[in-house]
Amino acid sequence: MTLRQRSHWVFDLDGTLTLAVHDFAAIRRHLGIPEQADILHHLADLPATEREAKHAWLFEHERELAVAARPAPGAIDLVRSLHGRGCRLGILTRNARDLALLTLAAIGLEDCFDPAAVLGRDEAAPKPDPGGLLQLAEFWQVTPTQLVMVGDHGYDLECGRAAGSWTIQVNSPDDRWAAVRDLHFDDCAALLQAL
Ligand SMILES: [Mg+2]
Repeated sequence: MTLRQRSHWVFDLDGTLTLAVHDFAAIRRHLGIPEQADILHHLADLPATEREAKHAWLFEHERELAVAARPAPGAIDLVRSLHGRGCRLGILTRNARDLALLTLAAIGLEDCFDPAAVLGRDEAAPKPDPGGLLQLAEFWQVTPTQLVMVGDHGYDLECGRAAGSWTIQVNSPDDRWAAVRDLHFDDCAALLQAL
């Protein structure tokens, strides 16, 4: 199946459809999370009171970022083009689902995504776990191998690879993830040109 024939597309949100603004080092410092630790896994292992307080801070911090979100180069045209062709579009993010919906509204793409196909950290195990992609495949009644997963980070590509989906890296020149990506484009504009 060529890229153009693929009709079920899942996007990471932050740094993929939006300009990357998360300062994860600063978030780790503020929440007292070790540099190498996975933020969501670290929080999940904390005692309930501390976990809830830190999640509340993270949600508020990310809400401010969501409201101010700006689209990544070519992201609007890419999503509108796929939507116009009748593709089914989903979001799989480690952010909270409500904030993903807020972000999509902030960049003017909320009409292109069925809210039921927007999965955040409370709807699916965080990437690189492939669970979210398997859920979306089930929701759309297709096999995971029919999905395309687009993201800017190794988590997105590892998640896609683990699900058996097609993986596309954008917005990051990093070659660390060459083994888990199928295609690599500078940005969404370049990806759209290849369609
Ligand atoms: Mg990202």
